[in-house]
Amino acid sequence: MPRYEFRCRECTATGRASTFEVDRPMSAASDPAACPEGHADTVKLLSTVALGGRARGGGAPMMAPAGGGGGCCGGGCGCG
Ligand SMILES: [Zn+2]
Repeated sequence: MPRYEFRCRECTATGRASTFEVDRPMSAASDPAACPEGHADTVKLLSTVALGGRARGGGAPMMAPAGGGGGCCGGGCGCG
């Protein structure tokens, strides 16, 4: 389920942590969301739309280091 990031204007005005995330279906993407403090004056941010579990480490195009860790999950170390 996509995750959407919101910012609460009231919490921003009062100096509290002002952003929060909401998991909701895309069909409800534009619905209003109340912040954890219960304020309804929130705006949806466009930055965070993560479709579950793929994005890790910010998307840097880095391959696995050569010669390191390749055989780990083959059975020897018990990580599988
Ligand atoms: Zn708030």
